[in-house]
Amino acid sequence: MTESSYQTADAGKSQALKLCSTVDAYSGSAEDIVKRHLYEPAPQAYTETEYQRASEKIKAILERENAAIIAHYYTDPLIQRLAEETGGVVSDSLEMARFGANHPAENLIVAGVKFMGETAKILSPEKHVFMPTLEATCSLDLGCPIEPFSAFCDEHPDRTVVVYANTSAAVKARADWVVTSSIALDVVDFLDAEGEKIIWAPDKHLGSYIQKHTGADMLLWDSACIVHDEFKAKGIHDLKAVYPEAAVLAHPESPESVLALADKVGSTTQIIRAAEQLPHEKFIVATDQGIFYKLSQLVPDKQFLIAPTGGAGAGCKSCANCPWMAMNNLDNLASSLTQAGNEIFVEPQLAQQALTPLQRMLDFVKTQN
Ligand code: SF4
Repeated sequence: MTESSYQTADAGKSQALKLCSTVDAYSGSAEDIVKRHLYEPAPQAYTETEYQRASEKIKAILERENAAIIAHYYTDPLIQRLAEETGGVVSDSLEMARFGANHPAENLIVAGVKFMGETAKILSPEKHVFMPTLEATCSLDLGCPIEPFSAFCDEHPDRTVVVYANTSAAVKARADWVVTSSIALDVVDFLDAEGEKIIWAPDKHLGSYIQKHTGADMLLWDSACIVHDEFKAKGIHDLKAVYPEAAVLAHPESPESVLALADKVGSTTQIIRAAEQLPHEKFIVATDQGIFYKLSQLVPDKQFLIAPTGGAGAGCKSCANCPWMAMNNLDNLASSLTQAGNEIFVEPQLAQQALTPLQRMLDFVKTQN
C-alpha cells in the first residue's frame, strides 16, 4: 500500500538547482550520449604539487588534533584519496557510522552531508565532530521536516516507523528504526515477518523498491534524492544500444523504470562489490559519479559509463553529481578543525532518542554477519 503524505521531492530541488552546474546530458545521437557519458575524471582543482602541499598541511593538523577523516564515496576524489592516505575511511553511510564510533580519534572530520555528521555525533557524543561545511544538506533530509512527519506518524500509531539515514536527528528520534540502503531490505523483511506494518520515509523510490521485494505493508513518504531521481530509463536504453554487453548497476534511490533495467540494484558498497564480482567489462552506473574514483581504483581494467540524467521534462539537468557533496573540498576540510562554526552539535536529549533506532540498526547488522 502506498500513500503519499505532505511533502514532495521538490523541497530540496529548488535549493539544489541553485547549486548545480547544468549540463544538458540528454540530447544528440546515441553515440553522442555515449561519448558524453564515458567516465573521464573531471579536471582537478589542484595540481599534484598543490595536492601534496595541501595534504601535508592537513596531515599535520590531523596528527596534532588527533583527528580522522571519514569520507563518503560521493565526495571529491582528492578527499577520498586523503582519507585513505591518513588512515581514515571512504565508505557508505553505514560504514561511516560504524567507523566513527569505533575509531580511537578524539576528533572526527566527516566529509559528506549534514545528516552524516549528526549521525557520527549521536553515535560518539564524547567526540568532537567537524565538517568541511555545515551547508551541505540532502534533498531527502529537506523533504522530510519533523513537524509534518511526526503528525503523519501520529495518524498511524499502529505502524512501525522506519526512516532512512538521510534524515535529521529529530526525524531519527521519532523513528523506531533507522536504516541505510545497505540494510533497508533486510530490516523491512525482518519486520514484515514479525507481522509489523510500516511507515517508511523519506525516499519514495527506495521505499517502493523495498515494498516490491518484501511485500510488506508500507506507507511511503513522498520525497526523493535530486541526483538519483534524474536517471532516465530511455538514456540507459540508448547506452545499451551502443554497448549491449554493459551491465547496469543502479542505486535504489533511482526511479523504478531505471531499476527495472538494472543487473544489480544496491547501495554504493553493493554496487562496488558487483563491479568487482560480475564478469562484465563495461558497466552503466546509476549513482553519483563520485563513486567512479573507488570503482576505477578497485577494478581499473573495467570501463564505467555514467547513466544519463536530465532530459525533457526533468526538473534538474544534473550531472550525476550531488551539489551538496560537491561543497566539500580540501580547502574547507583543512580549515574545518581550526575555524569556528564547523562543529556538529546535537541536543543531548534528542541525540539520546535518535541513538535508540540507530543502535537497533547496528545491532541488527551484527546478526546478519
Ligand atoms: S546524492 Fe541524493 S541522497 Fe545523497 S546526499 Fe545528495 S541529495 Fe542526498
